Amino acid sequence: MFKKILIANRGEIACRVIKTARKMGIKTVAIYSDADRNALHVKMADEAVHIGPSPANQSYIVIDKVMEAVRVSGAEAVHPGYGFLSENAKFADALAEAGVAFIGPPKGAIEAMGDKITSKKLAQEADVSTVPGYMGLIEDVEDAVKTSNQVGYPVMIKASAGGGGKGMRIAWNDAEAREGFQSSKNEAANSFGDDRIFIEKFITQPRHIEIQVLADGHGNAVYLHERECSIQRRNQKVIEEAPSPFLDAETRKAMGEQSVALAQAVDYTSAGTVEFIVDGDRNFYFLEMNTRLQVEHPVTELITGIDLVEQMIRVAAGEKLPFGQDDLKINGWAMESRLYAEDPYRGFLPSIGRLTRYRPPVEEATPTRAVRNDTGVFEGGEISMYYDPMIAKLCTWAPDRATAIEEMRLALDGFELEGIGHNLPFLAAVYDHPKFTSGNMTTAFIEEEYPEGFEGVTLGEEDCMRVAAAAAAMHRVAEIRRTRISGRMDNHERHVGEDWVVKLQGHAHDVKINADKSGADVEMSDRTRRVESDWTPGDPLARLTVDGSPLVLKIGKISGGFRVRYRGADIKVHVRTPRQAELADLMPEKLPPDTSKYLLCPMPGLIVKVDVAEGDQVQEGQALCTVEAMKMENILRAEKKGVVKAIKAGAGDSLAVDEVIMEFE
Ligand code: ADP
Ligand code: ADP
Ligand code: MG
Repeated sequence: MFKKILIANRGEIACRVIKTARKMGIKTVAIYSDADRNALHVKMADEAVHIGPSPANQSYIVIDKVMEAVRVSGAEAVHPGYGFLSENAKFADALAEAGVAFIGPPKGAIEAMGDKITSKKLAQEADVSTVPGYMGLIEDVEDAVKTSNQVGYPVMIKASAGGGGKGMRIAWNDAEAREGFQSSKNEAANSFGDDRIFIEKFITQPRHIEIQVLADGHGNAVYLHERECSIQRRNQKVIEEAPSPFLDAETRKAMGEQSVALAQAVDYTSAGTVEFIVDGDRNFYFLEMNTRLQVEHPVTELITGIDLVEQMIRVAAGEKLPFGQDDLKINGWAMESRLYAEDPYRGFLPSIGRLTRYRPPVEEATPTRAVRNDTGVFEGGEISMYYDPMIAKLCTWAPDRATAIEEMRLALDGFELEGIGHNLPFLAAVYDHPKFTSGNMTTAFIEEEYPEGFEGVTLGEEDCMRVAAAAAAMHRVAEIRRTRISGRMDNHERHVGEDWVVKLQGHAHDVKINADKSGADVEMSDRTRRVESDWTPGDPLARLTVDGSPLVLKIGKISGGFRVRYRGADIKVHVRTPRQAELADLMPEKLPPDTSKYLLCPMPGLIVKVDVAEGDQVQEGQALCTVEAMKMENILRAEKKGVVKAIKAGAGDSLAVDEVIMEFE
């Protein structure tokens, strides 16, 4: 076995590989850029080598720099993680030349699967079911229209070199085929320097289901069942689970066996993933093979009990797989949520900055439940604009799907994350969505269910009652403390009344509290609820039970009550005495200041260009300016028709969040 390995990556995946290496008694070497000087993966590794400036194209993906780090550290093998150099055949070559093991598949397999047309042909030869379509390249626009008609609409126009959901367009008619061909071609040329295009059938009611495979260098190959990743935003996975709620044993077996056949056809070794698109009738079609560890691999580890990184390392060291296909059972259900530094209330724009608070739920593994959080950040650390905006991957496991979902809801409720915009409320909303909980979703779920973007969640009736009961009990605790602090020590409890009016989401609830040593009985219009907790005023997280079942709330103080964040909702809860409530009802509601006359910078970033001039008439949806943050250019558009009165920022300006870019009349 290797004595020392280098991890050619950063963030959570570097940390995750280090954990397994340490467990195996292998020393680890991290590499880092300027921005990652204090990163978690650097702290966790036994050694670390600086490899250059922050942008990945000057550090993490420069083969010579990584090779130099390998040389100076004396590492015997390299794990590439995912992204970066993980599917780069030249990197595999460079390592082979230096006599260093690549913890991944052979170069030939990377090359064969790196191109969508080549891999589709190979899959067809290996008797793997592929998406119907035309196997050749599309010459020009007219060819695109002709082929689309032959294949039959709707069609998917795809770049052969594509990845990360880029260079891909659906077309339902000739006009869209023309446009889709052109835009896919442009995007592919820009992103991959390769503009080859092919066309296949668009599979309707599509679900993304993929098979994990693992092969050794001794002719053994197995599949570790499937993951379903249908919850995607712009072809980017957001929530994954294993197994899939849609597959039956027969389909699973067929997909698994075809995946193994494909792996064998390209002499695959190590871990890899064969992605399929599955239609409403459970017909499945090969999409592509990812020749690396996948972001969502933890859900497979949770249902099989196998450490995929450990197996990758063992295979790279020449060992045999210690299990056969029959040993691989599915145990329970696992869910994964990708926590992104993307603000769901601002069209999922990336958000960067300091994590002023970062307290993930406690990790644990018992026979009935598990919580796992793969992360590369820490409280006080920074999310920089240079890399992927992923903060953490939160996973839960339970014996069945409904319980795994409930565990995830609780884990998200208790996940404290402050300082930056993030998608946690959106994730929480999805886990409460009946279409998701029923398991009856497709890859169009987010588009269909949140067509206007995410605007927060309104709590249902019972949730409101539970939150109201909890807020009343917490308010009472806070009031008692206040009377104590103000010096009225004698008989302090008498100063705090029993009758309260709790107002949230526009409804007022009259409650009566009967408190005792361990909690409070809260009488409400429908029934009495028992609230218990050890919350103390000032705690940003309240772990309570209401009628014995857990309720975890994020609590902020506002005048006369609390800001409560729970299950994707972010609401104000006012707790008042009946008299105060009467008076509050007479007060005119304070409206937030009108900012619609301004275009504010939605995240800290750099203005790349401004598309309009003072005095211009703009239409709804018109591009106003481009802001660069997190390596992405974000186009800010007009929310409504108007006239530009003044422009306050120009190209090259670096702006803070909410700084004014322009003003409208
Ligand atoms: P796919 O969507 O094709 O299945 P994955 O979901 O496995 O691919 O995601 C791979 C992507 O992860 C890469 O394209 C890259 O954008 C991103 N990535 C690469 N390195 C890291 C990292 N260290 N931390 C977080 N994300 C990363
Ligand atoms: P990438 O390399 O960018 O990951 P994929 O071929 O894996 O590209 O496709 C990404 C996503 O696009 C899939 O998960 C699926 O949601 C969708 N998709 C791709 N091809 C088709 C198709 N023929 N029909 C329906 N959906 C598709
Ligand atoms: Mg893919």
